[in-house]
Amino acid sequence: MNDPRGSEKALDLDVLWRGPLESCNYGCVYCPFAKTKDDRAALARDAAALNRFADWVLARPAEDRLRILFTPWGEALIRRPYREALIRLSHGPQVQRVAIQTNLSCSVAWMRDLNRATASFWCSFHPGETPRESFLRSCRAMAEMGVSFCVGIVGIREHLPEARRLREDLPEGVYLWVNAYKDGDPDYDDAESLAGWREIDPLFDLNRRAYPSLGRPCAAGSTAISVNGEGEVRPCHFIGESMGNLYARPIEEILAPRLCSRASCSCHIGYVHMKDLGIDPLFADGWALGRLAPQPGARAYG
Ligand code: SF4
Ligand code: SF4
Repeated sequence: MNDPRGSEKALDLDVLWRGPLESCNYGCVYCPFAKTKDDRAALARDAAALNRFADWVLARPAEDRLRILFTPWGEALIRRPYREALIRLSHGPQVQRVAIQTNLSCSVAWMRDLNRATASFWCSFHPGETPRESFLRSCRAMAEMGVSFCVGIVGIREHLPEARRLREDLPEGVYLWVNAYKDGDPDYDDAESLAGWREIDPLFDLNRRAYPSLGRPCAAGSTAISVNGEGEVRPCHFIGESMGNLYARPIEEILAPRLCSRASCSCHIGYVHMKDLGIDPLFADGWALGRLAPQPGARAYG
C-alpha cells in the first residue's frame, strides 16, 4: 500500500487499465476482441482486479494528477463493479480524469452519481448491433446531465450513411471520431468514402497511418503507462514486457523515460504519446480528455 504522506513529487500520469474481462453483449463482425464468455468466476476475478486498482489510485496522495482510461477487451459498463468504480474514482482528489470506452448499451441513470468534472466516456456506435435512435437517446440523456463524452464509429464503408445521420443528430459539440478500418489494406478507403469520413471527422487522417516508432522517444513508460489486472506495468498496451508491478514496488521507481521498441504505432492511445509527432497539442488537456475534446478548430495533422 502507498505511503499516505506521499512521495516528494506529485505524480502526473496517464494510465490505461485493462483487466481480464473479455466478453461483450454485442457481436460486431469487425471486433478483434470479445470472442469469449466470462463465467461467474472470471467476472469475480475481474471485479477484484478492478477494485484493487481503484483502491491503489484512491490511496495515492491528493496532489497527484492521474488520468485513467479503461480500455476493456469487451463491454464493461454492463457490469456493476465498473459503474461503481467509475463513480468512486471520479470523486478521488487525485483523479483529474477517469474515462472508459463503451458501447453505451447500459442505462445512463447511474451517471448522476459521477463527479461530472472528472468523468468522461468514449462511446462507440455499432450499426447493426443497436438502433441509432436508441444510442442517440442515451447520448441526449448524458448531454442533459452534463456528462462529457465523445462518440466513435468504425470506418466501415457500408456504415458511412449511418455515420452521416449520426453526425447530424448528435448533440451540438459532441465530437464524432471515425476509427480508420484498415483490415490489413492501407488502401481500404476509396475516394468517396475518404471524403465522407473526412467531412465527419476532420482528424480522420491522423488515424489512417502507422507511425514509424522504433527508437523514437515516447512518453509511454515515463508519464503514461498501461496496467493489467495483476498490476503489471507496461509502457503501453502494445509492448508486452513488464516494467514492474504496481502493487509490489513504488510507481516512482518503475517509471523511466524510454525509446519505443516497436517498428510502428498505429493506435491513437499509443501514438499520441510520441514526443516528436506533435499530435498531443491538438487535443485539450491531455489525451485521456483529449480524445473526448479536440481543441476548437483542430484539423488533420500533416
Ligand atoms: S461492442 Fe466493442 S467489444 Fe463489443 S463486439 Fe463490438 S467492437 Fe467488440
Ligand atoms: S510509440 Fe506506441 S508502441 Fe511505441 S512505446 Fe509509444 S505508445 Fe508504445
